[in-house]
Amino acid sequence: MTLSGTNLEHAKVHNRRVVIETIRLHGQLTRAEIARLTHLTPQTVSNITRELEQTGWLQSHQPIRSGRGQPAIPLSIAPDGAYSIGIHLDQGLLTIIVADLAGHALQRCDVSLQSNEPSDILGQVKNILHKLRHSDRFDWQKVLGIGWVMPGPFNVRGISSAGPTTLHGWENININNELETEFGFPVWVANDATAAALGERLYGVATQLHSFVYLFINNGLGAGIYLNGHIYDGCSHNAGEIGHIIVQPQGRLCFCGNQGCLERYLSLQAAYELCQLVGDEATPQQLLRIDDEQLEQWLQVAVCATRQAVNIVECLFDAEAVILGGMIPEPILAKLVNRLAPLPRSVRSRVPDELRVRIGQTGLDAAALGAAALPILLIAQDSNFDRL
Ligand SMILES: [Zn+2]
Repeated sequence: MTLSGTNLEHAKVHNRRVVIETIRLHGQLTRAEIARLTHLTPQTVSNITRELEQTGWLQSHQPIRSGRGQPAIPLSIAPDGAYSIGIHLDQGLLTIIVADLAGHALQRCDVSLQSNEPSDILGQVKNILHKLRHSDRFDWQKVLGIGWVMPGPFNVRGISSAGPTTLHGWENININNELETEFGFPVWVANDATAAALGERLYGVATQLHSFVYLFINNGLGAGIYLNGHIYDGCSHNAGEIGHIIVQPQGRLCFCGNQGCLERYLSLQAAYELCQLVGDEATPQQLLRIDDEQLEQWLQVAVCATRQAVNIVECLFDAEAVILGGMIPEPILAKLVNRLAPLPRSVRSRVPDELRVRIGQTGLDAAALGAAALPILLIAQDSNFDRL
């Protein structure tokens, strides 16, 4: 599927994003090819690509000669045209990466947090960023902004203040203000599932997809919803809190106060409990060390719950794929996904199972790269781009 541009002048911002996305998807394209793929006029393509070359986002390659006329010049995204900082905060863990426009992590910093106190964590983040400012691996002047990602939901009484699957104390902290004042960059805050979905769209298994839902398996469970070329995150940025959809009436008690929530079966926390991992043993790495019999205690219920989740998501959104990823170790996720067939019937039944459910990125990079994708994707469709 290709994106279509529009020739209305007020749609310049939209067209710029379409051109960037189209070049990204195809690697290298000439202006004529961009015009053909986007249905934009050659003049519009010429204006946008000139602007993108001036800001350093595009690079030109050796001209291609074919027959008479001007040789065509292929264009591609210039990885070092700009940089972005991605920050992922999770229980006891802070990851900061600097990524280029191609999604390569040029620098990364993983910190085990001794305290979950927001002021301590913000202090550590600021120290790390001040050190990165002097790095010779990238040009600090070309940093577009900061994407900050943490588990949701944000500011919802009842389900954001209870249990081990949420972060406490951040309800009244204005992260944007804290970092924008200190560094002068724009800052975007999103939940981990939304950011991971953007990361997959920009760099991962979803680069060719126009609609998909990413199930982010963490201590809890969240969904990143990408529909018709856009993230949908809801009126209070809490869309996709799929972990608290009730799938088993009278089922396992949830920290939110309900019974039978999806994340009581499909999440790392559920895996720890059902595999009887407690204290320091309750880690993703420990799940890789236990024997099959112990893991089976969780896998059986997780397979059922995942089928339910896929069914709900497919019937609700009719998206091209459901992508599974998150902080769950990839070998464990592969075991889970291999046992999903046959998937329940849904509006996507005519599609082969392996296309309906796909494995995305897992581990620390999934959300951190997604965080770094936020400034890159959002600034390209922002009118402020003109001032870069
Ligand atoms: Zn719940």
